Amino acid sequence: MNLILLGAPGAGKGTQAEILKEKLGIPTISTGNILREAVKNETPLGLEAKGYMDSGKLVPDALVISIIEERLKKDDCKNGFILDGFPRTIPQAEALEEGGVHIDKALEIAVRDEVIVSRLSGRRVCHGCGAPYHMISCPPPADNVCPKCGGEIIIRKDDLPETIKHRLDVYHEQTEPLKGFYGEKGKLAAVNGENGIEETTRLALEALGV
Ligand code: AMP
Repeated sequence: MNLILLGAPGAGKGTQAEILKEKLGIPTISTGNILREAVKNETPLGLEAKGYMDSGKLVPDALVISIIEERLKKDDCKNGFILDGFPRTIPQAEALEEGGVHIDKALEIAVRDEVIVSRLSGRRVCHGCGAPYHMISCPPPADNVCPKCGGEIIIRKDDLPETIKHRLDVYHEQTEPLKGFYGEKGKLAAVNGENGIEETTRLALEALGV
């Protein structure tokens, strides 16, 4: 299954992507995680992306499109993949089509803005492996050391309050039109993402028919 996860920042795409990856046995590709890794390692890609990311803006399409094109060529994507955070604009979705990448479903995880704001301000992430934590639903250990990899658990710069509103605006303006894009092709499914991680997974699996 070639799957896209759609939804606002903080809707739970990353969390569901990790769960669905295990259940479906296909890799998750997160452009946000790839870009954060590049920023951490100070690669040319990371240096170019950092300013956009820290201020909550989208990285230019050409940059993320080439990341995805390279990643999808790898062997582990042969039996399917889950895209988390890509496409995020209509031109990115068109680039997938032009590259001959077939998409089976775009699954929207729907969460209202006010819920997003309270979630994002409690969000934490492992600087080492990208594992997600949350002060309420999945609190990190008191020493902020990731149990999965020993990395430090931090607040992403783009989860700072002043950046959250901007990211939501960017989502509504540039990413939400993808619902129409995939809806017209009969590929859109939507699930309510406000009722906890397990319930969202249940609804997602139901919507995917697996
Ligand atoms: P995320 O972890 O998906 O919220 O992504 C974090 C940041 O990485 C975003 O706010 C953007 O700056 C950048 N980013 C991730 N994916 C994309 C994409 N598909 N297009 C443009 N920018 C992206």
